[in-house]
Amino acid sequence: MISLLLLLFCQDGAQVFLSEKEAVRKVFPREMKVLRRDVQLPVEVHDAVRRRISRRVEDRYRLYLGVKNDKVVRYAIVTDEVTKTLTMTFIVGVDPDGKVTDVVVMEHREKVGAEVAKKRFLRQFRGKDLDDPIQRNRDMIAIVGATLSCDAAMRGTRKVLAVVREYLLDRPENVSSLITAAAPVKEERYVMGSLCSITAYGSSDAVDAAFREIRRWDGILSNYDPESELSRLNRARTREVSPELLRFLRECDDFRRSSGGAFDVAVGSLVRAWGFPERNYRLPSDGELQKGTRDRAFRIEGNLVSLEANAELDPGAIGKGFAVDRAVEVLRKAGVTSAFVDFGSTVYALGTPPGEAGWTVAVRDPFRKKKILGTIVLRDSALSTSGDYEKYFELEGRRYCHILDPRTGRTVEGVTSVSLLAKSATEADALSTSIFVRGFAAAEGSCMFVSSDPRAPVSMTPAWREGFHFGSAP
Ligand code: ADP
Ligand code: MG
Repeated sequence: MISLLLLLFCQDGAQVFLSEKEAVRKVFPREMKVLRRDVQLPVEVHDAVRRRISRRVEDRYRLYLGVKNDKVVRYAIVTDEVTKTLTMTFIVGVDPDGKVTDVVVMEHREKVGAEVAKKRFLRQFRGKDLDDPIQRNRDMIAIVGATLSCDAAMRGTRKVLAVVREYLLDRPENVSSLITAAAPVKEERYVMGSLCSITAYGSSDAVDAAFREIRRWDGILSNYDPESELSRLNRARTREVSPELLRFLRECDDFRRSSGGAFDVAVGSLVRAWGFPERNYRLPSDGELQKGTRDRAFRIEGNLVSLEANAELDPGAIGKGFAVDRAVEVLRKAGVTSAFVDFGSTVYALGTPPGEAGWTVAVRDPFRKKKILGTIVLRDSALSTSGDYEKYFELEGRRYCHILDPRTGRTVEGVTSVSLLAKSATEADALSTSIFVRGFAAAEGSCMFVSSDPRAPVSMTPAWREGFHFGSAP
């Protein structure tokens, strides 16, 4: 009724008949649960649709699924078709037999032809399927004066029928994955001394296994647990180690080399000299610092590792990132293609949430707790932030943070945070720490550097500038 009135009173110009929400409500009876999915057709499906209706069509669709008693009992697609030079937007409902249930016009933009929205015309679609011609002067009667718009509705309806047929009815596995995509599993646990949350589209078993893997690595790498393999090595100084610990130490050694010594996993005695692990903060003497900068290498021969006199392994700057990568491996092996592992300062985005471009991650404002500096969308990549605001102490107006330059033994000053993207969480974690030490000039790829002067501009690499959206939401 309302749409008819609108139609009468604004005879020319664009006409909005229904919002998408209203249109969806018309197509799906109340008792159905409605799920919305933005889908991109796989190439083979897209080709099949094109062959079926002998014309080129889009490969992205806004799809709705009506679920009742855990079964999909109705589909609908919102789509556009060109009427003359402009487009009209409408929704087509389809039942599980591939027959049209409803066609509802939402918006018509051409000056003429809006009568296409009349029920008298649209009712003719009901019950038609791909075996019907759905064509003017064959099985459909167009409205006089609105023939182009009526043709568009017919073309669009055939398109929707073909997409539903090829993508959903003939390939039911797509339907089940769209349904399970409805509920990502999300779990939070306290591991490695931090809160970790894993969100995954898939089974909770996979998420469990991923957490078990993080725990397992904590058992190997923790420097708080005296029984961990790393702690044992720190005590024994020379020891045969497991392939796992060996792999970890090799990676650490690579980062030490490539950072020119700005990142060094054997920095533990220096970190302790400042009192960080036990929070009994103090300023070490010059002598202590000098000693801590010497004889800090470790040697790997086969599976035998030996530490030089002042080498003490501290996994703090890389361990969480490394564990995130191992957890992601477990998720991948379990068949998960879409997940987000959030370990606070280091996160990894696996794939994308269904129908989305990626996982949107907020980067906090380093100067204002609880405020967000901006967001960035990640897909198969990691983001890590090293900051001076989580672990630090202040003495006579100076801030001493928990990241130090292993080459001088002194804590880094003048830097508030470094955020950067990398292919793996290990790399992101290690690099955010080493760029914190080396300064923005050493940054590559996608990196943001915030100095401790709140008035100074934020430094960004071109890649970061391109991907980062300042403010709350993109
Ligand atoms: P977060 O703990 O917030 O993830 P980082 O990844 O930057 O922060 O790691 C900082 C921790 O790494 C420190 O607490 C310390 O244990 C250790 N560390 C400090 N400086 C260095 C360094 N230059 N190289 C390697 N590890 C470091
Ligand atoms: Mg780090």
